[in-house]
Amino acid sequence: MKIINVSDSVSVCQDERYYLVNSICVNLGSELVFVDTGIEPIIASKFRNSMHKLYKQDKACLTITHANNDHFMGLEAFLDLPIIVSDKFMDPFNMRTKSSKIDFGKSFKPTEIYSSSKTLGSGKQSVTFTQTGGHTEDSCFGYYPTEKILIAGDNLLTDMPQYFFHTDSNLEKYINCLKEWEKMDIEMIIPGHGNITNNPSHISRVRSYFEKLAEFLLHTKQSDLSIEEILTHTALPKYIEPDPENWIEKGIRHFYDNINSNK
Ligand SMILES: [Zn+2]
Repeated sequence: MKIINVSDSVSVCQDERYYLVNSICVNLGSELVFVDTGIEPIIASKFRNSMHKLYKQDKACLTITHANNDHFMGLEAFLDLPIIVSDKFMDPFNMRTKSSKIDFGKSFKPTEIYSSSKTLGSGKQSVTFTQTGGHTEDSCFGYYPTEKILIAGDNLLTDMPQYFFHTDSNLEKYINCLKEWEKMDIEMIIPGHGNITNNPSHISRVRSYFEKLAEFLLHTKQSDLSIEEILTHTALPKYIEPDPENWIEKGIRHFYDNINSNK
């Protein structure tokens, strides 16, 4: 793992063992806000301790962008803190932890559950989390206006294709989230996975591709083409980056299945 201090008050812990998954710490002055836990409590604990030292701040809380294992498996390192999640978080969290019998040392109960959005801190020293859906139904993003930093969660990845084939992935909500970000004043993006970028045009590139894809698939829905014919269709929009594990193809299959089931 490596810790990257991306600005005066934001640091990222990146774990190269699992698709460069990022955990984040925002120093609001009055407290530290941790976002996502990474995949392992020992690493999460090291990150947490180094943040308390770096920012000389003992007070902290945790929030989680969405209930996928790679974003909450390090939870044990934060169980003594206030933990704030959206009202869409607990159902998928309970489902995943029950089915894989994950043990956090003690039972997890969030300190606070919010609907739609939640601002931590106040005034200039605040960070706001907003529930949007997209990658998963419970997906949230964070925005730290003082430094114009977007904490994207898995609604935006860099250095790898986008991932939207969870059973609750929703392409329309995904595109709407990207459009919302395009209207915001963003100078730096911390993706759910991948390297931090100072290039907000990444959002528009990804949105443009998915809009074309959605349009193409909605149009071809009217035809009798099979999914295999769709995937080899010359008019199928090509993703902007290499897709070594076929995430985009899997996403197209998922989305096409879903629009077919709505017939
Ligand atoms: Zn993830």
